[in-house]
Amino acid sequence: ESKTKGKNRYHLFTPALNEQAQRRTVIDRFVRNAIAADQFAVFYQAKISLDDGRLRSMEALVRGIDIDGSLVSPGEFLPYAEAHGLIVPIDLFVLRTACRQIADWQQEGLGQLAVAVNISTKHFRKEGFVEEVEHILEEIGLPPAALELEITESALMKEIEQANDSLRRFRDAGISVALDDFGTGYSSLNYLRTLPIQTLKIDRSFINSICDEGKGSLELVTIILSLAAAMRMNVVAEGIETPEQLKLLQRLGCNQGQGYLFSKPLPADEFREFLIRHNRAGNWPDETWFPGS
Ligand code: C2E
Ligand code: MG
Ligand code: MG
Ligand code: MG
Repeated sequence: ESKTKGKNRYHLFTPALNEQAQRRTVIDRFVRNAIAADQFAVFYQAKISLDDGRLRSMEALVRGIDIDGSLVSPGEFLPYAEAHGLIVPIDLFVLRTACRQIADWQQEGLGQLAVAVNISTKHFRKEGFVEEVEHILEEIGLPPAALELEITESALMKEIEQANDSLRRFRDAGISVALDDFGTGYSSLNYLRTLPIQTLKIDRSFINSICDEGKGSLELVTIILSLAAAMRMNVVAEGIETPEQLKLLQRLGCNQGQGYLFSKPLPADEFREFLIRHNRAGNWPDETWFPGS
């Protein structure tokens, strides 16, 4: 204790670090209280088929609700939740909420929708997780095809041997898995070939600069798309923000897209309105984006 005291005191006088430490305390407290009181909300972001503009699935994204009602982003609290071993209850809350939600929307006649849920790898390779997911689907009465799990590439590749077994069991259960933030990790091509993964989600950073010459993003995305085609995988482009990015991705033959161009992640009631508008328009919001449909 006393040995490190001098060092700590020095850090306390560094304003940036002090602020960071304060925020850390706030987030730490938030995470603990939030789990106990269910202070989380699930937002939904549309995934759009790039050939016809249809919305067939959406991604569930967690938000924290602080005591004052303000939203806390997952980037801020998930690392702490993970460090404190609290990620599993959060993921399960999101999984249950999202499955119930689309079962409701399906019953309401809003379409044969699927939902994608993000899962921490710690959770993913946990003993009994596959059975737990199957149980939740059964309870809610949702077919396994309506659920997709997203795991980040970097996390999966770090623990590939343990995850491999879970991947196979999810495939056997009819639940598909997507590799999230693809291109930022270190996937071995051999693993990609052998793992039962149905979808690659190209990281936002590449889509963001896909129209900029000399950045290499266009070349990289082109390679990922031909890789996916060779392995019969679906590809989702994350973070599409401009019509130019969309047109380029359509020309390259990318299956699906997600991004602020279509919609930001929305709370359930607003997403429902979005769905209704989308269903009415056919390929909401701009038909000129999907001329062939
Ligand atoms: P992700 O799964 O890669 O999700 C995409 C993130 O990009 C989301 O951030 C989304 O709001 C944002 N995004 C989507 N389109 C655009 C765009 O056009 N432009 C920009 N600038 N951003 C866009 P969000 O919601 O803050 O989530 C961050 C990350 O937190 C997610 O990245 C995911 O890895 C993780 N996460 C979210 N919900 C959960 C959850 O329930 N469980 C777990 N384990 N992780 C989650
Ligand atoms: Mg995701
Ligand atoms: Mg992603
Ligand atoms: Mg991401």
